[in-house]
Amino acid sequence: MGRAFVYVVLGGGVAAGYAALEFTKKGVPPGELCIISDEPFAPYERPALSKGYLLPEGKAPARLPAFHTCVGANEERLTPKWYKEHGIELVLGTRVKSADVKRKTLLTATGETISYKILIIATGARALKLEEFGVSGSDAENVCYLRDLADANRLVNVMQSCAGGNAVVIGGGYIGMECAASLVINKINVTMVFPEAHCMARLFTPKIATYYENYYVSKGVKFIKGTVLSSFDIDSSGKVTAVNLRDGSRLPADVVVVGIGIRPNTGLFEGQLTLEKVGIKVNGQMQTTNNSVYAVGDVAAFPVKLFGETRRLEHVDSARKSARHAVAAILSPDKADDFDYLPFFYSRVFTLSWQFYGDNTGEAVHFGDYSGNTIGAYWINKGQLVGSFLEGGTKEEYEAIAKATRLKPAVEDLAELERQGLEFALTISKKPPILPPADQTATTLVLDKPLYAWHATAGVIVAASVAAFAYWYGRRRRRW
Ligand SMILES: Cc1cc2nc3c(=O)[nH]c(=O)nc-3n(C[C@H](O)[C@H](O)[C@H](O)COP(=O)(O)OP(=O)(O)OC[C@H]3O[C@@H](n4cnc5c(N)ncnc54)[C@H](O)[C@@H]3O)c2cc1C
Repeated sequence: MGRAFVYVVLGGGVAAGYAALEFTKKGVPPGELCIISDEPFAPYERPALSKGYLLPEGKAPARLPAFHTCVGANEERLTPKWYKEHGIELVLGTRVKSADVKRKTLLTATGETISYKILIIATGARALKLEEFGVSGSDAENVCYLRDLADANRLVNVMQSCAGGNAVVIGGGYIGMECAASLVINKINVTMVFPEAHCMARLFTPKIATYYENYYVSKGVKFIKGTVLSSFDIDSSGKVTAVNLRDGSRLPADVVVVGIGIRPNTGLFEGQLTLEKVGIKVNGQMQTTNNSVYAVGDVAAFPVKLFGETRRLEHVDSARKSARHAVAAILSPDKADDFDYLPFFYSRVFTLSWQFYGDNTGEAVHFGDYSGNTIGAYWINKGQLVGSFLEGGTKEEYEAIAKATRLKPAVEDLAELERQGLEFALTISKKPPILPPADQTATTLVLDKPLYAWHATAGVIVAASVAAFAYWYGRRRRRW
């Protein structure tokens, strides 16, 4: 038994949804595209799972079909009906168990062979399990991971069964932080446990982390840092009753949420395609080492032009944009430039909301009032701005830090940068770039003070005049 398609997307997550929309925008005729997913749902905006999906009943939790892709980018919402109307075959609830890139075929767990001319691998990643770190108990009914909708439903059910009880969150990354906030909102007492010195250790500086940790503490969250889970106490019904830590402490638990990282789903292609950074290596067209196979989203390791090196990103914006880029490159190979991506990551917890652009290498320069609502940081590497972080910004301010980061301005005086703070980005983002012939990737913006002061003043006026609109607009948009 078998079917053949011109284009097959393997994986039905965020990247698949955005690829489907791009294929239709570019006029691919009905019957040519197929999406295969082991999840039983049409592609949806995965970030909703740790945010709107976990809200308590009274707060209108997000449910499908509300967050099918591509609502997260303010585009069309692709329901199963939409795929049908566009002649896109959705093969759902179906795992692909092997792939043969030479023969251009995929074999599903149901025994069907699906062949393609062009394959887009969009298999994303899976949550790392405790067992991979030598701890057993993942199968206990109140131990929850969060990668897909089935996980989210399980977490919702467990949360509903233990209101007023105790949760232990293992891991201080964004899944841990977002789940901890949701547990608190569901009136559950939360203790977070992680081995690092502070939360979000891969991204935050100690100062940024302290800001968020203080906020969490004000919401009743306890932090136990510098240690790890060693075992669970499990009762006769198979439920975890307590968490034992390596430092000897024992925490009573009604629910355990584990967020200890992810691993890209590359298994089907190991030995057939070149891997890098534990992902599938692609070029600037998102094309793998096999001409007929592309990879996008969390699974793809692609050249980030801005930093001159290959990166694998685990962020929704990268999944959306890499998918669109791959489709454009597939359909118009002669016209497509190399993917030129500015890494972007965001999170929302409680009423807080931050965005990060670029790279967090080099020296961090903090700005803003760390006892107030708007804080930020820049990262300066080898005399250039390479990364920007902002909490509590307006739409215009977020756009400004994004633009400034992309421009990579030269920064000589870190004290002056700290003094200017957000104004620096607002000013730089309005200044036309001067591209020296020797280095087209960097913008030389070593500011002479009078010119800079003029721009800063202009920036303040413009920022003030749009702030009310930006605030209103920012609150109006619901991002997934
Ligand atoms: C709870 C949660 C919250 C998040 N929040 C944020 C956020 O706030 N900000 C941010 O920037 N990023 C966030 N992310 C990350 C973001 O969602 C991912 O970067 C994005 O989903 C990656 O898209 P993808 O299409 O590459 O992979 P996925 O969306 O993971 O899709 C992969 C799909 O492939 C399927 N699949 C895998 N293997 C097979 C197979 N063999 N056969 C059939 N199907 C298969 C999977 O089941 C899945 O449906 C979050 C992620 C999670 C889990």
